[in-house]
Amino acid sequence: MSMKGRTAWTNWAGNQACAPVAIRQPSSEAELVGIVKEAAAAGQRVKCVGAGHSFTPIACTDGIMVDLRRYGRLLGHDPEARTVTVEAGITLSALCDELDQRNLALENMGDIAYQSIAGAAATATHGTGWHFGNISSRIVALRLIAGDGSIVVASAEENPEVLAAARVGVGALGIVSQVTLQAVLAFRLHAIEEPMLVDELLADFDGYMSSADHVEFYWVPHTAWALTKRNRRTDEPAEPRGRIKELVDDTLLPNVAFGALCRIGRRRPSLIPRLAKILPSTGRTEYTDRSDHVFTSPRRVHFYEMEYAVPRDVIPEALNRVRRLVDEVGIQLSFPVEVRVVAPDDIPLSTAYGRATGYIAVHVYQGTPYDAYFQGVERIMDSYGGRPHWGKMHFQRAETLAERYPRWDDFQAVRRRLDPEGRFSNQYLERTLGPVPA
Ligand SMILES: Cc1cc2nc3c(=O)[nH]c(=O)nc-3n(C[C@H](O)[C@H](O)[C@H](O)COP(=O)(O)OP(=O)(O)OC[C@H]3O[C@@H](n4cnc5c(N)ncnc54)[C@H](O)[C@@H]3O)c2cc1C
Repeated sequence: MSMKGRTAWTNWAGNQACAPVAIRQPSSEAELVGIVKEAAAAGQRVKCVGAGHSFTPIACTDGIMVDLRRYGRLLGHDPEARTVTVEAGITLSALCDELDQRNLALENMGDIAYQSIAGAAATATHGTGWHFGNISSRIVALRLIAGDGSIVVASAEENPEVLAAARVGVGALGIVSQVTLQAVLAFRLHAIEEPMLVDELLADFDGYMSSADHVEFYWVPHTAWALTKRNRRTDEPAEPRGRIKELVDDTLLPNVAFGALCRIGRRRPSLIPRLAKILPSTGRTEYTDRSDHVFTSPRRVHFYEMEYAVPRDVIPEALNRVRRLVDEVGIQLSFPVEVRVVAPDDIPLSTAYGRATGYIAVHVYQGTPYDAYFQGVERIMDSYGGRPHWGKMHFQRAETLAERYPRWDDFQAVRRRLDPEGRFSNQYLERTLGPVPA
């Protein structure tokens, strides 16, 4: 970035960059309040950034960027209620370690643990599980700094409408300062990972996706195969993979070997279909380990991603349309298409609001042109009233999104109350939520 006196910022995927007037790293709530008041006095905007793991420009700002890496302590623990209160910048991996020390765990998680709790919740980050909700659905209280620098406490008793909206706040309601989470007793997961024919799996999609607590699969484009992952909650003792096996499964294959395939594929796209055939031959793996160590794994190959939430029962049809799109458009893809399910919730801007939800996620290797593929997939998802992940690529606007969220106006009312001047807005929020309503 060349703008004088400004600091350059880019996200993890490297596809979003901005030049904030300043990047601050506060370590107390008082400092956070001070930054908001200072910005209000100077007429500047403010934007928090967690781990920068969103693919959209959701965390970008030309105002003050607030980096929460020094604001991640555990503040309280209620052993009876099994809740913990943390500062908003804590990473999911640090949070899981804190929970584990107290014999607790997060109920469900996505694929990685690099995100901050506030960043993950802001975009409705989710894992998979027929009976399990997303991370935001486990938030029972929070403290938020509004546009004028005042502190708003939100719980079931105090400002419940703020709690309802701010569990998936998209960064639009204020700075989340503290989060209280409902945890569960620590548990282990027994994992089975194996390739399956995708047509067999889709023939009994409901049966397959509900055959264990947390089921997901990756269809490998240009093949008839899906790589499946079934995790069952268990009290059985851990039987982890050996360190070498774990390194090969979680780091070497998906990151190093896969990265090499992607690089070859980018240079010689015509080789991709043949390279893809190598992936499903990775065999069957079975192991039992601490829940967060099974839910999440390292991601070192950088990519771009789009993910859509649709009613769960349309997934087989929608995925088959994506499969046909890949064939028809002749796109050579080195990344799999991920399918997950999540239980419905009641959070106004949650992608799983009010319906049992299935997710289809498409990826391309960093630097690969994605417009034709992602737009084609988006048109398919539009026909099912699809809701894009707030942190992943999409081409929607407020006008196209409003009708997909029955409680859109409730969210906007809270936004108007907490941030009437759009202190926390940015270009992405103006596009996807519109300006703060008058
Ligand atoms: C490799 C990879 C794997 C992923 N896997 C999954 C997955 O399995 N499931 C899934 O659902 N998503 C997944 N994601 C997406 C990711 O979980 C989300 O984009 C998440 O929002 C990133 O968290 P973050 O801490 O990096 O937030 P950022 O991207 O830094 O910020 C996201 C939003 O949160 C806001 N924010 C951050 N902190 C605060 C705060 N204190 N107060 C108010 N607003 C705040 C930011 O302003 C911004 O609007 C993945 C992303 C990557 C790169």
